[in-house]
Amino acid sequence: LPEADLVRPQAVDIARLLPVPSAEDDKYRRGVLAVRAGSDQYRGAAVLCVGGALRTGVGMVRYGGGEDVLSQVIARWPEVVGLHLDPRSSTDLGPGRVSAVVVGPGRGTHPANADELRALLESDVPVLLDADALNLVSSSVALTELVHRRGAPTLLTPHAGELARLLPDTDRAEIEAHRLEQATRAAKLYRSTVLLKGSTTVIAHPGERTVVNPTGTPLLATAGSGDVLSGVAGALLASGLSGQDAAMCGAYLHGRAAVLAREGAPISASDLLDALPLAVAEVTTGR
Ligand code: AMP
Ligand code: MG
Repeated sequence: LPEADLVRPQAVDIARLLPVPSAEDDKYRRGVLAVRAGSDQYRGAAVLCVGGALRTGVGMVRYGGGEDVLSQVIARWPEVVGLHLDPRSSTDLGPGRVSAVVVGPGRGTHPANADELRALLESDVPVLLDADALNLVSSSVALTELVHRRGAPTLLTPHAGELARLLPDTDRAEIEAHRLEQATRAAKLYRSTVLLKGSTTVIAHPGERTVVNPTGTPLLATAGSGDVLSGVAGALLASGLSGQDAAMCGAYLHGRAAVLAREGAPISASDLLDALPLAVAEVTTGR
């Protein structure tokens, strides 16, 4: 893609987009994020995703899942409002209106999870799809159709392997060789915002200039860091940003948090959580 078709956001651009909590706000107005991540096999994905959202700033996180993973999430984050879901029938969207939903990290591809995803896609709530939610979409024509037909903001956050499964006639190497073009192709095909993760994160949206994220470090290549990102971008989606703005600001803050966390020393995904508020403060104090 020619340079004129690309956006490379700076801190001031992010600061302008981030929500400014006001005196009139209450927790509902700041945004309620529902998280459908984690499973008995992958409990940590739920903890990291919820943590990413809470540390980015949001009015409330509602977590829905099975008993074991739910108790683990509440033990780490007592501020979460929990909804106990029967893993065999999880299409219950729970009480109360939510402003956005994150679905997928560590969730599994069990048929009940496909039902859960279908119910979310049929709703008019902004949705972020990651990991197993993307794997379910790539293996189901019906779910792909639902993504295609959505009116509400839809943000897909694949890494190269997940994007290769979402696109016909391509493989991981092809994605890595043409990241900008393939992200743009996927955004058109799914009529959604696509945040393609990797050494340089890019964000494509149909009909818009493609964003190249300027922050981050290869130290992010560690298990769980993508789960944190889904929570960060989900919180921003819940606070009212468009899919594209939530993706751009989310990737920016996540990358800064990775650098700030240990000043360049190795990090694990949990370290990102403590650094996220510092990343938000760094960006907003320059506002
Ligand atoms: P996931 O693959 O879902 O665990 O997400 C990995 C996260 O780490 C994403 O935010 C990627 O953009 C980031 N990441 C992975 N590899 C690199 C790399 N080599 N340089 C910078 N960021 C990376
Ligand atoms: Mg991942």
